[in-house]
This record gives sequence, C-alpha cells and structure tokens, in this order.
Amino acid sequence: MQRYFVAAEQFSDNGIRLVGEDAHHAFRVMRTKPGDKFIVSDGQSRTALVAVIEASSTLVTAEIMEMLHADSEPGWAITIAQSLPKGDKMELVIQKGTEIGAYAFVPFQSERMVVQYDAKKEAKRIDRWSKIAKEAAEQAHRSRIPTLEAVHSWRELIQSIAAYDLVLFCYEREGHAAHGRGVRTAVQEWINSTDLIRAPKVLLIVGSEGGFTDREAAEAEAAGAVLVGLGRRILRTETAGIVGLTCLLYESGEMGGA
Ligand code: SAH
Repeated sequence: MQRYFVAAEQFSDNGIRLVGEDAHHAFRVMRTKPGDKFIVSDGQSRTALVAVIEASSTLVTAEIMEMLHADSEPGWAITIAQSLPKGDKMELVIQKGTEIGAYAFVPFQSERMVVQYDAKKEAKRIDRWSKIAKEAAEQAHRSRIPTLEAVHSWRELIQSIAAYDLVLFCYEREGHAAHGRGVRTAVQEWINSTDLIRAPKVLLIVGSEGGFTDREAAEAEAAGAVLVGLGRRILRTETAGIVGLTCLLYESGEMGGA
C-alpha cells in the first residue's frame, strides 16, 4: 500500500491532509479518488490507515480509518557516520541504509577524504539527501524517516562518540589481521559487559575512499570506539556502511524470522 510522510500539523484528530508534491503524486501519479486507502505517517509517533475524502493535485484530504502500530522500526538505533565520499555515492549509502533500517546518517570530514569539502555545496546536497531518505523510507514501509545530520568535522564526530552505547569503527587494517575483531565479537563483548539496554544507540563509523589514518583510528579508540573488520576483502566506501549496518541488525535479530 502507498505510504506518505507528512508534517505533524497535517494530522488532525480524525483526518490528514496531503499537500505539495505528495498531493501531486497521489492525484497525478497514483490517480487517487475518494474512498481509496493509503498509509500516512508523521515520521515520528503516528501512523494511520486513511481513506480519501477529496483529491486534487494540490490538496488531498482523507479520514483516519485506523491508527497503526509503528512496528517496522528496528529495536537498535544504528547511525551510519560516513566520511564524505566522491560523486553521488552518499546517495547510495542513504538510500540503501534507509531501506535496511538505519536510524540516522552523519556525514563527516576526515584526513584522507578525496573530495574537497565545500560548505555551500554540502548544504544543497543535504536537501537532496533528505529527499532520498524520505522516498526510501516510504518505499521500505518505514514509520520513521532517518535523521540526516549536518556534515561533522572530525573533532565533532569524536566528541559525539560518548553519546552512543556502542561505537564500531570500521578499519580495513583490522580486517587483514588474523585476530581482527568482527561485528559479531564486538557486539557479544558489548552485550556481556552491559546491562541490556532497550533501544541501544549504535554508531558505525566508515572511512571514505582514502580510508583512515592510524592516528584517526587511535583517536576513535581512545574516545571509546571499538575497531572492527568487515571481513578479509576491502569493501568500497559505499559498500562498507551497508554491510556493517546489515551485520549489526542481523546480530540484533532484526533481519526477519525468529
Ligand atoms: N584505504 C583503503 C580503502 C578504504 S575502504 C584502500 O584503498 O586500500 C573505505 C572504508 O570502508 C574504510 O575506511 C573502512 O572504514 C571501510 N572498510 C572497507 N573494507 C573494510 C573491511 N574489510 N573491514 C573494515 N572496514 C572496511
């Protein structure tokens, strides 16, 4: 069933309104008419099955048939911190990460970044990235759009580590080491060392094409991150976050089945 994310104020006690691009999409693309049903979410706490009352290309009004439980969200809130990659690779990370179940994205700067950081250009890209996250969340039937944070400096990223319950730093050097720690071991060690936390906050840090310097790895470790390998193959930067996220969600029992 089609899903739309709307702003909280588009919800009233017994109805919802679609406006702008969503109204256009519902009316022109989906050819919605009175009586048609779809799902609407405010991206936070409310998700409802609604039935259309009136539709035009600028406004669709619908009444709430049933409030739905937002149960497609993973129990673990996993944030992907991605060092800015080249070209439009970040779009892929956001699109696929959203489908799989990422909680948030934090683009950040690091030493061996290949792209020239340009604050003005990035602000524009954030708009585009937000749109990609919204569309991917709708497509994946999520009840929440992942948060997209502003580009962090390396310092800001390191300082944010303390706010998470578990931080994994993807380090390809570790992947080569015979005794490298993988996601499973890191998660096991963390679970054994903590009182089980409901909805833990996990941060997955991924380098850009140039990887990380030893100094960056040491700084992240000193701040509380666990260095992990993702196997003995070197993954492209846009692959590493998707794989790390999937491994974490698998370990949390999230990827389907019992
Ligand atoms: N410097 C590397 C490539 C970096 S890969 C080189 O050119 O050889 C980009 C990022 O993906 C890395 O910084 C790391 O965070 C992650 N990554 C890729 N493969 C990985 C692996 N096998 N284990 C852990 N992290 C990996």
